[in-house]
Amino acid sequence: MEGTRSPLNPPPSTLYPILTVTDLKQFGYCQRILYFTYCMPVKRPTTYKMEEGKLAHQRVEDLEARRSLKSYRLDEEGGPRERQFNVRLYSERLGLSGLLDMVITSREEVIPVDFKNSPGLPGLNHKYQLTAYALLVEDKWDKPVRRGFIHAIPTKRSHEITITPSMRGFVRDAMVAIRQMVAAETMPAATRHKGRCVDCEFLRFCNDRG
Ligand code: SF4
Repeated sequence: MEGTRSPLNPPPSTLYPILTVTDLKQFGYCQRILYFTYCMPVKRPTTYKMEEGKLAHQRVEDLEARRSLKSYRLDEEGGPRERQFNVRLYSERLGLSGLLDMVITSREEVIPVDFKNSPGLPGLNHKYQLTAYALLVEDKWDKPVRRGFIHAIPTKRSHEITITPSMRGFVRDAMVAIRQMVAAETMPAATRHKGRCVDCEFLRFCNDRG
């Protein structure tokens, strides 16, 4: 018998486009960025900030490979743990892909770790991005993910984030909303946070900003 379909469990034909985890972060940051990405593809300049971000990630990866898991307070828990860096993830079931900075595995659990280049506490958009990674990690390792970490590169602080059912629900709903927006080709409203527009690579396309 065919299973029941809900908006949170769409049939494969509705899994278009294949989304990236970064899309989930952008959804919380400014939905209009997703419109420009999927409905009005424009050549995206490589900005100084992007290049700096890549270099900072590489430096952290080198450091992480040498240091213990103390900053994650995982040393005494759960037996031997392994780390993998730059893990490519793809789920056909979710229509979602991503490149995860680090994953920590043990017999008992799998923990996604995302590095961020800003010093403050993780915002909601970072938490939803981590949740999207958690969904992908669950698919690949076939183990439930209870928590993840967001590691702030400038402060060297690792923030433990519990992956809650409501965060999972938000991410699944967001994927449905993004696909609906792409299908309808409707430009969403600009973000309410005008400060986000200052460095935005799409500012020249937003006539109501700038
Ligand atoms: S300029 Fe502002 S409103 Fe336009 S896409 Fe960028 S962040 Fe969004």
